[in-house]
Amino acid sequence: MTKINTTLTKNPKNLPPSDKLGFGQYFTDHMFVAKYREGQGWYDAEILPYSPLALDPAASVFHYGQALFEGMKAFRQDSGEIVFFRPEFNYDRLCEGAARLCLEAPPKELFMEGLKKLVEADERWIPNGPNTSLYIRPTLIGSEGFLGVRPSHETIFFIILSPVGSYYAEGAKPVRIWAEETYLRAAPGGLGAVKAGANYASSLKAALAARQKGYAQVLWLDVEHQGIEEVGTMNVFFVMDKEIVTPALNGSILAGGTRGSVIQYLKSKNLPIVERKITITEVIEKIKSGELKEAFGTGTAAVVSPIGVIHYQGKDWDINKGETGPLSTQIFTEITSIQRGTKADPFNWITKLK
Ligand SMILES: *Cc1c(COP(=O)(O)O)cnc(C)c1O
Repeated sequence: MTKINTTLTKNPKNLPPSDKLGFGQYFTDHMFVAKYREGQGWYDAEILPYSPLALDPAASVFHYGQALFEGMKAFRQDSGEIVFFRPEFNYDRLCEGAARLCLEAPPKELFMEGLKKLVEADERWIPNGPNTSLYIRPTLIGSEGFLGVRPSHETIFFIILSPVGSYYAEGAKPVRIWAEETYLRAAPGGLGAVKAGANYASSLKAALAARQKGYAQVLWLDVEHQGIEEVGTMNVFFVMDKEIVTPALNGSILAGGTRGSVIQYLKSKNLPIVERKITITEVIEKIKSGELKEAFGTGTAAVVSPIGVIHYQGKDWDINKGETGPLSTQIFTEITSIQRGTKADPFNWITKLK
């Protein structure tokens, strides 16, 4: 395997207060970087002090958007053990995304070794307060400088780390969301099923407009403005009288790891989880009839984010009176307890650092 060199910082930063971390505001002392060039393979893999990258201004990431990322977490459990939550899932998804974006994915050993060495170097940064964790951002970019339109022959893989608290400033309070009928996040055949930076570029304007109108997130619909896809940067679940529904993966929905964990957990409890198409019309009808009990988003950052209000065509529709529902609470508690090591891990989701 490509050897990983380590250069530790001479100027370690002060740790931020663990009750004021927020999300993605602080970065640790180090980063991992590895480079790939066609014909040469992976080279210059290193842990080094967190610092700006030097890139050719003609690099394909700037002009043609060859950028892909992952989001995962490490935890300091009460026993002192440092653990990762489903790192293999994130590696596999990175490989799928790299194939879609014509970038080179790092070999698995390089990914895992780089990750472990980096987290070891920055171990003191892993917080252990309530709802805190170390958020991990592996990223792949096309780094070759050229202006013809074709896949970059060079890739840079880097990992940065950010100690985080709750994703939402409001805590676990249900969010108000805006069903979006003008902008699309992703379309069939596009990049929606992979964690491409371009999907986020596509989403910013609608998210900003929603925020200005007093809604925390956008409820993304399909090209027909009917099929529900995702909520903000999360997958979405609807709890109804007879079934729990999450939109089936249709090629423009991102297959979240948390989505998979929630499905696995619900199945283990023999709860009726169904992956199928669900439209905004059906959701509004089931709110009207009282059949819709709860709705929530799922993602690594927030784990479970309850939805209190859906705005659709000029009207606000309350869900569960705007309160967090029992199933949302149960799932959040179950997954975070496994992450924190206060509950056994029957699903094999946890990987120890050492
Ligand atoms: C990352 C992401 C998710 C959630 O995925 P997790 O693996 O659960 O964090 C959902 N939707 C989009 C668009 C995403 O980028």
